[in-house]
Amino acid sequence: MRITLWGVRGSLPTPISSDIIEQKIKKALGLAKPGDIATPAAVEAFVSALPLSVRGTYGGNSTCIEVTSDSGELIIIDCGSGLKALGRKMMDRGFARGDSSASIFLTHTHWDHIQGIPFFLPFYIKGNRFSIYSPFPDIKARLDHQQVFTHFPVTLDQMEATKEFFFFRHDSELHLGDTRILCKRMPHPGGAFGYRIEENGRVFVFTSDCEFNINEVEHIDEYEDFFIGADVLIFDAQYTFKESIDKFDYGHSSASIAIDIAGRFKCRRLVLFHHEPDYDDEMLDDLLINARTYLAMKSTRIHDMEIDIAREGMEIQL
Ligand SMILES: [Zn+2]
Ligand SMILES: [Zn+2]
Repeated sequence: MRITLWGVRGSLPTPISSDIIEQKIKKALGLAKPGDIATPAAVEAFVSALPLSVRGTYGGNSTCIEVTSDSGELIIIDCGSGLKALGRKMMDRGFARGDSSASIFLTHTHWDHIQGIPFFLPFYIKGNRFSIYSPFPDIKARLDHQQVFTHFPVTLDQMEATKEFFFFRHDSELHLGDTRILCKRMPHPGGAFGYRIEENGRVFVFTSDCEFNINEVEHIDEYEDFFIGADVLIFDAQYTFKESIDKFDYGHSSASIAIDIAGRFKCRRLVLFHHEPDYDDEMLDDLLINARTYLAMKSTRIHDMEIDIAREGMEIQL
């Protein structure tokens, strides 16, 4: 399967400011030697070798993940503001004709996970078909509520694609072609759910918006079936360890607990996700460095595990 990250920011879409762009330009120019900018080719090579936090950004759009199975099923997990750009890409791929289909799995309905829907162009094209899965039985009403006339001029029903809603009970599984999908309840205010997607022996686990605090960790073995042996685990790491204590019950985890859980359940690659809106790119660089240091220090480390940090546009082939 192929996984593409269209939105990685937590809680609130966070556009990069003009001041920060200026700082990045100054930093890049400060690093350049005369030969680095002598020709267009030299500029290209110089810029592409700069760290992401200098030449670009981890991204400001809220949660949206695209998964394409080996058998060609298109699966979208969450519909945050990143959904808008995915929708444009889907239009280029055939959804503009109105004869295409996809499945959408929603973790929960906090705004940062659904706010891209009113701007999702494939929903406006008659003939497209979408299956929308959620463990919330009132999911249709929740999405309708976002598009009442006082909040948006077009209702969900006026978006002419066919949208079918399916109740997906937590701790149950369903199959789309050769893909097996498991749903698991996560600790988060108002409830949220994670998804484990398996195909051809490969495992992708996605759980954003989950708070594995000291109480939850006491019965972590209840999550074994969900996390075990993931080739890729995308996990909520919005807070530093200190913030996770100061913000007890806010609903998010830290990189250190993500590493503990990924290690315990023998996950191969951990991707830190749902970035704090107040964190700039340098702070996210630090988050990754600290996470890798913590992993290296862990005396209970029992296998090699990679740690990455999510960025918009990141693609993972499994
Ligand atoms: Zn969120
Ligand atoms: Zn949430």
